[in-house]
Amino acid sequence: AKADGRNTMSFFDPEMQAALNARAALEADLRRGLKQGQFELHYQPQVDYTGALIGAEALLRWNHPTRGLVQPDAFIPVAEDTGLIVPLGAWVLDTACAQLRAWSDTLDTAALTLSVNVSARQFRQADFVDLVLSALDRSGANPRCLKLELTESLLLVDAEETIARMAALKAHGVGFSLDDFGTGYSSLSYLKRLPLDQLKIDRSFVRDLLADPNDAAIARAIITLAESLGLSVIAEGVETVEQRDALARQGCLSYQGYYFGRPGPVEALFKHRA
Ligand code: C2E
Ligand code: CA
Ligand code: CA
Ligand code: CA
Repeated sequence: AKADGRNTMSFFDPEMQAALNARAALEADLRRGLKQGQFELHYQPQVDYTGALIGAEALLRWNHPTRGLVQPDAFIPVAEDTGLIVPLGAWVLDTACAQLRAWSDTLDTAALTLSVNVSARQFRQADFVDLVLSALDRSGANPRCLKLELTESLLLVDAEETIARMAALKAHGVGFSLDDFGTGYSSLSYLKRLPLDQLKIDRSFVRDLLADPNDAAIARAIITLAESLGLSVIAEGVETVEQRDALARQGCLSYQGYYFGRPGPVEALFKHRA
């Protein structure tokens, strides 16, 4: 559009221009990174009350040639805005399924589940169901060991479509966990209709569990809700044994957090703390 007068002044704001340039540079960098294989998955242990490993969450890292290991918060939002999350998410699924397949070859790791984060934009691609099924097929991974982590934001757009896609994958054995539960806006009636397997208690409620009675009450309510809907429940962000014990007293017996192990290369997963 033609610049015309005062109303468009903000387009030429130098600070805004600098931000746009930085974004464009990051986008180009991401594209190159994807092409050159600069991404990797780190794995964070998920344990039961005895400390036994029950699974892991795959967390994306960008091994950047000059910036070093870049955390997802620094690039996932731009990947989402630009649509790069689609090829990036496809790579994540392929890599996660290959890892699952590798685990299935040894008795000790065959039963582990792997949780994979799926962004709303990725999930809404018309071919998402096929993408997941072909990643499973190509790898030979057991669909029952794959758990997709969705967030409540998905439900805001088209709940019917979301439910249909979940059901299609579930028919093949794929599991679903609702991530960051309690921080979004999903109505409880949707929750009942979604073919979920697990609720994940958000880290924000775990953090102040022992100090803040409100957070403790929310955690307790989520655990009760999961029980009454027949879902499993896992707490994220568990950093102390006291938090684990408080969660256990409320009936939550699966955990993920720094207390047990930080995200790291796959080998480190088997050296987690019990
Ligand atoms: P999330 O799915 O909520 O993942 C959990 C985040 O909490 C991870 O951050 C993890 O490292 C961190 N965490 C785990 N335990 C603790 C703890 O005890 N204390 C604290 N303070 N933090 C803990 P990370 O790896 O930086 O990932 C950030 C977010 O980026 C993820 O949040 C997820 O939304 C997104 N993400 C990561 N990998 C992927 C991916 O492959 N695809 C998509 N779409 N999103 C991803
Ligand atoms: Ca997650
Ligand atoms: Ca989470
Ligand atoms: Ca969270």
